[in-house]
Amino acid sequence: MTFSKILNYFLRLIIFLILTILTEIGGVIYIANFGTYSFIDARVTNKWYRRLSKAGSFALFYLLTTFLIVPKLAEPFGRVQLPIRSTNNLQPLTFLTCLLNRNYVNKELRDATFAIAKEMNNQYPGTVLNYLDANFPFINGFPLAPHLSHNDGKKIDLSFCYTDKSTLLETNEAPSLIGYGICEEPSETENNTSQLCEKQGYWQYSFLRNIMPQKRKKDFLFHPKKTKALIELFARDSRIGKIFIEPHLKSRLKLTSGKVRFHGCEAVRHDDHIHVQLY
Ligand SMILES: [Zn+2]
Repeated sequence: MTFSKILNYFLRLIIFLILTILTEIGGVIYIANFGTYSFIDARVTNKWYRRLSKAGSFALFYLLTTFLIVPKLAEPFGRVQLPIRSTNNLQPLTFLTCLLNRNYVNKELRDATFAIAKEMNNQYPGTVLNYLDANFPFINGFPLAPHLSHNDGKKIDLSFCYTDKSTLLETNEAPSLIGYGICEEPSETENNTSQLCEKQGYWQYSFLRNIMPQKRKKDFLFHPKKTKALIELFARDSRIGKIFIEPHLKSRLKLTSGKVRFHGCEAVRHDDHIHVQLY
């Protein structure tokens, strides 16, 4: 085998692994798409057009599978797709979550989230909850990187609630475009858990906060009352087992439910989003 062939196989392996880690199904589709290569090779002579055509056939194959086939195939695995656009007062903060198949939960969690989104809309008319990473569509135990536990259909992350700083009106947008990394940080007098965790060597704890551009933070104000109402609705729901939020926000919002816990330094900071999970 020539060196260039070995390199080619190695590159394909890397692409397969990256696509699998990011999307669960992307690696399999990448391999299945090899089936179109002989058809393309026979018809396209220019080397670059050939590459483009193969990338294009992968993209088409991936999109059709993600949006038409996976939602149906996920059901026997006990997972349902969360809405791609605003439905029942729930929406993805970013379409990327859906594109990467990270928007699957079991039916019980979807129903609980819909019920709470509806109640939030009753209390704060016009509210649409933003969900972030949930779980992949298949296989219990398949990790949803970089999360430690989103691997069984029972976990969902949600954005906090905010006010638009220029209009002082409630907004359904969030400062971070991906929902993570722009934090409601502790004041001087509050417990600074991120500092404690970093001192203990947990470098990953504030990693996203440290690499995420903070430009949009100045356009938003954290809405403590509304965020508290959201967390309390989840805490009161008998289907929900645990809620993770940073300890200084638990104190600041005076959250007393035993379900609201600290997630530990091995995880990442939770003053940019709420983590909710079933029993
Ligand atoms: Zn989470």
